Amino acid sequence: MNSDVSTQQVAVIGGGILGVSTAVHLLRGGASVQLLTEGPLASGATGRSLSWLNSAGERSNPYHELRVAGIDRYRTLFAADPSRDWLQFRGGLFWQAEGRLEDTVARHRYEKSHAYDSHLLEPAAVGDAAPEVNPSAVSEAAIFNPGEGWVSLPDLVEHLMNEFHELGGSLLVNAGRVSVEVQDGRATGVRTATGETYAADAVVVACGAATPDVVAPLGVTIDNASPVSMLVLTKPLENAPTVVMNTPRAAVRPNPGNTLALDHDWYEESITEHGDGTFSIPEDVVQELADEASKLLAGNPELKPASWKIGRKPIPGDGEPVFGELEKVPGCFVAFTHSGATLGLIAGELLAGEVLSGEKHPLFATFRPERFAA
Ligand SMILES: Cc1cc2nc3c(=O)[nH]c(=O)nc-3n(C[C@H](O)[C@H](O)[C@H](O)COP(=O)(O)OP(=O)(O)OC[C@H]3O[C@@H](n4cnc5c(N)ncnc54)[C@H](O)[C@@H]3O)c2cc1C
Repeated sequence: MNSDVSTQQVAVIGGGILGVSTAVHLLRGGASVQLLTEGPLASGATGRSLSWLNSAGERSNPYHELRVAGIDRYRTLFAADPSRDWLQFRGGLFWQAEGRLEDTVARHRYEKSHAYDSHLLEPAAVGDAAPEVNPSAVSEAAIFNPGEGWVSLPDLVEHLMNEFHELGGSLLVNAGRVSVEVQDGRATGVRTATGETYAADAVVVACGAATPDVVAPLGVTIDNASPVSMLVLTKPLENAPTVVMNTPRAAVRPNPGNTLALDHDWYEESITEHGDGTFSIPEDVVQELADEASKLLAGNPELKPASWKIGRKPIPGDGEPVFGELEKVPGCFVAFTHSGATLGLIAGELLAGEVLSGEKHPLFATFRPERFAA
């Protein structure tokens, strides 16, 4: 925010990982924080995320740098208590469909070129890296990234919210659609769906896929490319894998309670959006995803879906994150990104730093919201 205004009272809109993490970092920095969210906490993408902690594959250097810093913050959290069943670092496995060996090799070389820990494995060697994986499911080669991990975001949100309450944060759930209040061109607070207002020196909009809609009435355009996606949780199984797997027909991550979280994109066409904004998918498609995941596991255990959630996956129009204060509306900050699991801790830390100090962090330099204005 402008350096001539001292920020003490901050309103954060959005109870997903980005809003909660920013709120906690603001409290750590001495701010007084009001967090408001439409429904319950973690009811958006945060409650249905694969949340593979990674910077695999090719992307812009600034995005890679931010993701690596994101993984670093999770490692610090992990080191404080490695026994947590909701945050683990046991590596990630990736392979492509048959016939795409050249792409896999190119990806591995790219990862090596910027020192991302990457090992190209023949199918027979995959069992050594991850004994719970069925090597015969692997196409010509797999990439093993031993430094990757996973988190269960609802558990992380609960963990952070304990600190939020200890530090005196104020929470309003089921607030309906909250909007930003502006006076003389500057954000001055927020208004709930029922008209209650909360004055603030700064407002943070962390509304996931709805972020562009929340800032649109302020005359700010942020392109939105958020697709509809689904996350399935299975019933518990014996010998659940400890690695995250990204494969041609299923992505699989471990989840607390010996269950698995599954997602992919091949079934997106089977998802129906209803007039009330809810989504549905035929149950046999959900089972088909579970069957695809089963093929990846040694012994092909039967996987039974226990629950599935469908909704928008936040992705800005150009795929890159959007962080920082709106030039057009001083005092209003946004956080809108894909890979918000990997970025959750670091983005909250850096954004809170910008709110409190008024100084722009160099790691956000290419992620400013104004790039969409043109
Ligand atoms: C299927 C799937 C797989 C994914 N896989 C990965 C992965 O492997 N690795 C990774 O790093 N990331 C992954 N992600 C992305 C990551 O989960 C998200 O980027 C992250 O959860 C987004 O958090 P958020 O806080 O921005 O948004 P959300 O979790 O959507 O939270 C936004 C909150 O704001 C509330 N809200 C919206 N509008 C308003 C309003 N006007 N007033 C009040 N409240 C409002 C919503 O109700 C919601 O609770 C995945 C996401 C999905 C869906």
